[in-house]
Amino acid sequence: TSSSPSDFIRDIVAADRAAGKHEGRVVTRFPPEPNGFLHIGHAKSICLNFGIAEENPGGRCHLRFDDTNPTTEDPRYVRAIQEDVRWLGFDWHGDMFYASDYFEQLYDYAVRLIRKGKAYVDSLTAEQMREYRGTLTEAGKDSPYRTRSVDENLDLFARMRAGEFADGAHVLRAKIDMASPNINLRDPVLYRIRHAAHYRTGTAWCMYPSYDYAHPLSDAIEGITHSLCTLEFEDHRPLYDWVVAETGAPHRPQQIEFARLNLTFAVMSKRKLLELVEKKLVNGWDDPRLPTLKGLRRRGYTPEAIRAFCDHIGVAKRDAVVEMQLLEHFIREDLNKRAPRVMAVLKPLKVVLDNYPEGQVEEMEAVNNPEDPAAGTRTVLFSRVLYIDQDDFREDPPKQFYRLAPGREVRLRYGYIVKCVGVTKDPATGRITELHCTYDPETKSGSSQEQRKVKATIHWVSASHAIEAEVRLYNPLLVTDAAKIPPDHDWTLYLNPQSLERLTGCLVEPSLRTAQPGARFQFERQGYFCVDADSTPGRPVFNRTVSLKDAWAK
Ligand code: ATP
Ligand code: MG
Ligand code: MG
Repeated sequence: TSSSPSDFIRDIVAADRAAGKHEGRVVTRFPPEPNGFLHIGHAKSICLNFGIAEENPGGRCHLRFDDTNPTTEDPRYVRAIQEDVRWLGFDWHGDMFYASDYFEQLYDYAVRLIRKGKAYVDSLTAEQMREYRGTLTEAGKDSPYRTRSVDENLDLFARMRAGEFADGAHVLRAKIDMASPNINLRDPVLYRIRHAAHYRTGTAWCMYPSYDYAHPLSDAIEGITHSLCTLEFEDHRPLYDWVVAETGAPHRPQQIEFARLNLTFAVMSKRKLLELVEKKLVNGWDDPRLPTLKGLRRRGYTPEAIRAFCDHIGVAKRDAVVEMQLLEHFIREDLNKRAPRVMAVLKPLKVVLDNYPEGQVEEMEAVNNPEDPAAGTRTVLFSRVLYIDQDDFREDPPKQFYRLAPGREVRLRYGYIVKCVGVTKDPATGRITELHCTYDPETKSGSSQEQRKVKATIHWVSASHAIEAEVRLYNPLLVTDAAKIPPDHDWTLYLNPQSLERLTGCLVEPSLRTAQPGARFQFERQGYFCVDADSTPGRPVFNRTVSLKDAWAK
C-alpha cells in the first residue's frame, strides 16, 4: 500500500507504541453483532481496525462476534460477515472470537464483583427501575434491594443462572452511583434473565450479559490494546473503565471513539435494513439498492473503491454526513481504470443503412480500454441493420442536440458516418419504428480517408449479432435524506417507488454473451454495469453500478 492514512487514532497508537504502553503491542478488534449484514459504515470500522493492525509491525486485529443477544443472532450472519471482511481484502489471520465463548468467564467476573460488594441482584420491575434511574437533571435513587448482603446476592445470582426465575424477575446490577451525572453509571444492568436459546450456546444459559458488561471484558480477555468504537459510546467509557478495573481483568484496553459514517440517502441502521428485508421491500440483504457490502458488491462496487473511499473520508472526532456522490466518485475512478468498454443499447431504435450491401458484415476493431493499453482490442461486427439508443435520435432536435435527426449526420463509434434520410412510423400510434440512413463509405473509423468530422459519435449494435439483455437501473432508495424523515413518521413511506427500473429487450454486443456474474463493464457513453447473478446462459442481466459523469459526445 502506497501511503497510510493518518488521523488522531493512528497518532494515539503511534504515541503509545513509542512510549512502550501495552508492552508496545497493537491489538485492535472489529466486533460486529451477527444480527444482520455489514454495510458501508462497518467498512469504515473494518478499514480502521484492520488497517491499523497491518500498519504496525506485529499488529493484530481480531474479528469478534459480539453475540450476547440470543434472540436476534444467527449463524447465517456470522458467515456473511466473514465473507464480507475477506471480500474487502482483510484477514484476521486466525484471530476469530465469539463473545459467547466468554460466558463462563463473564459469570466468574460477576461473582467477583458481588463478593467485592460491587454488584447486587435487583428485583425491581423494569418500570420501577426506570423511575428510580432519575433523569438528566434529577439524580436517581437507590433501589431497596441495593443493600442485599453478599451472601444473598451470591445465592440469588446462582439461582438466576440455574433457571429458577422467570424473565424480568431479577437483574444483576453494578453498584456504582445512583446520583452520578452520567446516567450510564447509575447502577447499570450487567445481566438479564432471558429464557431463550442462543445459536451457539443453546440453552446452557438463561441469563445474558449486557453490552456494557460483556464488551469491555471481551476486549480485556483478548488483550485488545485499542478498542475503537463510535461516538455514541463516549459516555459509556467511564463504565467501560469501571468494569475492567473492578473485575481485575488481566488487561486494560483503551477505548477511543470516532465519528460513525453517515451517507446521504442511504438506509444504514441495521434495524431498518432488517425491516426492508423482512417486509420484502427490497430483494434481500444483497439488493443492489442497499448500502450493505453484499448489496454494493452485487451492484458492481469493488473492494478497492470502498477502501479508497474509507481512506479518503478518514477518521474524525465529529459526526458528519458524507454525500453519496463521493462514494460514486471512487467507484468511477476505479472502474475507469479497469472496466472494459463495450457497446450496449438500452432502448433500441432500429436503423437501416439503405446503401449498405445486404448480407455484408464488417469486422471493426474496437479498443477495450483507452486507459489501459494492455487491455487490447476486440472485434465488433457492423452490418446493414443496426440499433441505436432512442435517446440519440430526435425528430425535432432542440438547440444543443447534436446527435441524429432527419437530415443530420453522426459517427457510429468504430464505424462510419451515417446520415438520417427517412423515418418510418407506426400509422396507428405515430411512434417511430425505424430510421433510414445512408452511410459514407469514405469515413470508416481508423482508415486513411477518415477526414470528415461530425459533431457527435454514438454507440450502436448490429441487429443480427446483438444479444438480448435485461438492464436494471438503480435510483436512490429514499426520496429524501434519511436524516430528514421525522421520527414519528413511518419511514417506509419515504421509499422511492422508482428506485429500481427494469429495462428488458436491451441489446448488447455479442462479446457479452459469456460474461460471468460479477464481471464489470463500461457501457460506452452510459455508465458502469456489472453482470448480475440472475443472468442465465445467453441472456445476461446487468446492474448499473453508476452512471458516467462525462459522456464523451453528448
Ligand atoms: P446496530 O446499532 O444497528 O445494532 P451496529 O452499527 O452497532 O448496529 P455492530 O454489528 O455492533 O452494528 O457494529 C460493529 C462495529 O461496526 C462496531 O464497532 C461499530 O462501531 C462499527 N460501526 C457500525 N456502524 C458504523 C458506522 N456507520 N460508521 C462507523 N462504524 C460503524
Ligand atoms: Mg453494536
Ligand atoms: Mg449498535
